[in-house]
Amino acid sequence: LLKGKTALITGSTSGIGLAYARAFAAEGAAVMLNGFGAPDAIADICRTLSGLSGAEALHDGADMTDPAAIAAMVARCHADLGGPDVVVNNAGVQHVAPIADFPVDRWDAILAINLSSAFHVMRASVPLMRGAGWGRIISTASAHSLVASPNKAAYVAAKHGLVGLTKTVALETATDGITVNCISPGYVWTPLVENQIPDTMAARGLTREQVINDVLLAAQPTKAFVTPEQVAAMAVFLCREEAASITGANLSMDGGWTAA
Ligand code: NAD
Repeated sequence: LLKGKTALITGSTSGIGLAYARAFAAEGAAVMLNGFGAPDAIADICRTLSGLSGAEALHDGADMTDPAAIAAMVARCHADLGGPDVVVNNAGVQHVAPIADFPVDRWDAILAINLSSAFHVMRASVPLMRGAGWGRIISTASAHSLVASPNKAAYVAAKHGLVGLTKTVALETATDGITVNCISPGYVWTPLVENQIPDTMAARGLTREQVINDVLLAAQPTKAFVTPEQVAAMAVFLCREEAASITGANLSMDGGWTAA
């Protein structure tokens, strides 16, 4: 499906982002990987992706809080790999605290990484996609783009904002062969979810098992975590010609969470 095309995925050294990278590489795409991690582990991932795709896979360490680094990453992708034909705004972080105690620097970082980075990536990528006459922009939003949970002010605000950004850019690119959509998973078992368990235990005075069963999966009627591979399969579908009319959408994959 993606032979001769290039996919740029922010935050793709781990979790859902890594699953997108693998899925696009399996469809033949060259991949620009982004995110933090040990150089050896990242080099291993690039080798694996290249083996899957038969195309190049490079890593760019741009920090999603740095607009100049983001623009440089998109330009480097265009120069070294072509495209980007598919971009996924996926980098995201979480912080769990009640509003009165919410650290100001965490608010700023979450808004920068989870929302503003998508603006900077789209701002740099849309002209390149217009030049190619084709493009797919996908953002990993969240069930928290539709509903809130206590103690996640920055995350919920950023994810709601990402949906508004997506709708706006979808309208601006509607006649350009470009689609712009969000995928909104419920809880996916990744390091992001695992790492917030201790803070939720502290904030609500619960055990680890109570957080998993009574907080996380309580919201998900299927009582099962979404898998990174399921999310990535939806992104691959959005790249198909059959998906050309899906734009400006926020596609839920949340085990029924937001149906309740
Ligand atoms: P993860 O922690 O496994 O991966 C996050 C990735 O982002 C990593 O590659 C990390 O290096 C990168 N990253 C973090 N800060 C960065 C920065 N400043 N600059 C560049 N890269 C940075 O998380 P995940 O669970 O795979 O989450 C990926 C996305 O999916 C996030 O946007 C998250 O909000 C969203 N999401 C996750 C879940 C879930 O349950 N895990 C649910 C809904 C939405």
